Amino acid sequence: MTEDKKSPKGPNKSDTIMMIAAKRGFFYPSAEIYGAKAGFWTYGHLGTRLKHNWENLWRNYFLGLSRSYFEIDDCHIMPKKVFEGSGHLAHFNDPLTECSKCHFRFRADQLIEDALKTNVGGLDEAALTKLIDDNKLLCPRCGSALMPVKWFNMMFEMKVGATGEDIMYLRPESAQSPYLAFKREFEALRKKIPFGLAVVGKAYRNEISPRQGFFRLREFTQAELQIFFDPDRINEAENWDFVKAYKLRLCLAKDASEGKITEITCEEANRELKIPKFYAYNMAKVQQFYLSLLGIPAEKFRFRELDEKERAFYNKLHFDIELDMGTLGGFKEVAGVHYRTNHDLGGHQEHSGENLEVVIGDKRFIPHVLELSFGVDRNVWAVMDLFYRQEPERALFAFPSLLAPIEVAMYPLVNKDNIPEYSSELYSKLGKEFKMFFDDSGSIGRRYRRQDEIGTPYGVTVDYDSLNDNTVTLRDRDSMKQVRVKGDELIQTLKKVIAGELSFEKAGAPVVPKAPEKEEKE
Ligand code: ATP
Repeated sequence: MTEDKKSPKGPNKSDTIMMIAAKRGFFYPSAEIYGAKAGFWTYGHLGTRLKHNWENLWRNYFLGLSRSYFEIDDCHIMPKKVFEGSGHLAHFNDPLTECSKCHFRFRADQLIEDALKTNVGGLDEAALTKLIDDNKLLCPRCGSALMPVKWFNMMFEMKVGATGEDIMYLRPESAQSPYLAFKREFEALRKKIPFGLAVVGKAYRNEISPRQGFFRLREFTQAELQIFFDPDRINEAENWDFVKAYKLRLCLAKDASEGKITEITCEEANRELKIPKFYAYNMAKVQQFYLSLLGIPAEKFRFRELDEKERAFYNKLHFDIELDMGTLGGFKEVAGVHYRTNHDLGGHQEHSGENLEVVIGDKRFIPHVLELSFGVDRNVWAVMDLFYRQEPERALFAFPSLLAPIEVAMYPLVNKDNIPEYSSELYSKLGKEFKMFFDDSGSIGRRYRRQDEIGTPYGVTVDYDSLNDNTVTLRDRDSMKQVRVKGDELIQTLKKVIAGELSFEKAGAPVVPKAPEKEEKE
C-alpha cells in the first residue's frame, strides 16, 4: 500500500496537503469564486514566498556554476514562425482518445498506463489504439467505447491585433527565448562559448487532462538553463576533478521496469556508460542541488534514463530527474537534463534565414545545447510532499530555512504591560535580516502549531522576564526544544543556527517548558 492510499481514518496525504495549502495561503484554484478551471492555480501569500525562494536558490546556484551564465527575460506570446522553426507546430502533440458516448476526452497514454500499469511512452496512435482495443479499455466515466487515438497539439493559439489575422502562440516552454536571443547574446558576450542563458518564467500547455492536482498544470513556471557549447569538446568539463568521484544515482533505461538504482561515480559513468564529461558534470551539479542544498534525502532522488523510443528524436541523451513522492505514488519527473544537439539553433537558422553559426578559431559550426530544465511548480509540490510530517501532536512542514516562507515568528506572550512594545521593537530589528511574522493572537501553544503547520523553523517568545533581563525564548520547530537567548545577540545567534554553524542546543540556556506541548485544536 502506498503512503497516499485513502485510509478509513481520514483524508490521504495529498488531500491533507491540498487542504493546508488552500486554508493557509500556499495555493488554491485560480478564479475559484467563478468555478475554477482545471490546471490553473493561484499562489497565495505563503506559496508565492516558497516559489520565489525556490527560484532564487535555483538562480544563485545554477547561474553561479560559470561566469558565463546569465539570465534573460522574454515575451510569453510569440509568432507562429517561431514554432514552425522549433518544430512545436508539427510535433508538440499528446495522444487523445474520446468517449463515443459522453464525449469526454482523455490523454490516451495516461489512460492506458493507469489501466495496464505499464509504460507506453513513445508509442504511436495506431499502437495505442490497438492496446485500447485488445484490452477492451472503456471510458472511465461512463463505461462506453473509446474512439481511435489521434494527436492533439498542446499549444494555445491567439489572434493578435485588431484584424485578428496575426496568429501567435503562448510559449509552451521557456527554452525558445535563449535560442532566439542566441546571436545577440553571443555577440554581446564577446563571442565565446560555452555560455549559458537562463529563463525563469511561465509556459503554457493545453494539457488534455490536467490531473494530479497541482502537478500537471496548463499555466506553469519553468526554470531552464540552455548551455551553448562546442560538440567537439563535450568530453571536457572545466571542474571535472571536483565531481569525478561523486556518485550519481541512476535508473538506467534497461533497469526502468524494476526501478533499480545504480550508484556510480561520474568517472565510471564517463568510462563505462560513455556519458560525456560535460553532461556528467552537470548531472552531478543537479544532484548536489537537490541533496546538498535543498536537503532532499538521497533515496528520494534519481536520474531516470529515457531510451530512444521515449525521448524526443533530437535528444541524444535524456535523463529525467525524479523525486519519490508519496502523494503521487512513487518517483515522478520534476526536471530533466537534455542534450538537444544543434536541433534548436539549426531549426531556427533554417526557418528564419538568419545565420546562427559561430566561428571559433578556424572552426565554423552551429553550437550544441545542453538544457537543464526544471518545472518550478512541480518542485514546489515536491518539497511540500517531501518535507510534510504528520506527528501525533501536530502537522508540520520541515522546510529548510532557505525555503521556508517565514523564517522566524515573533510571539508576544500577552498583549499588555509593555510586552507588545518590546516585541515590536525586536521585530523591526529582526525584520531587516529574516522573513518574519508577528503572531499575537490565541494561546501560545496554538500559535506554535499554526507556524509549524506552515513550516516556520524558528519562533521567538517575549515574556515578562524579557522586560527585566532582555532575554527571549527561541523555539526550534523540528525538535520543539527551547533556549533562552539575549535579545541583543538574537540576530547573530539565529544567523549561525540557520547557517549550520551553531547547533540549536548550544544557542542559549536550555528552557524546560512547564508542560509538554499539547495538541490544541483551533
Ligand atoms: P511530462 O512528460 O510530465 O508531460 P515533459 O517531459 O513534457 O513533462 P518538459 O517538456 O521536459 O516536460 O518540461 C520540463 C519540465 O517542465 C518538466 O520536467 C516539468 O517539471 C515541467 N512541466 C512540464 N509540463 C508541465 C505541466 N503541464 N505542469 C507543470 N509542470 C510541467
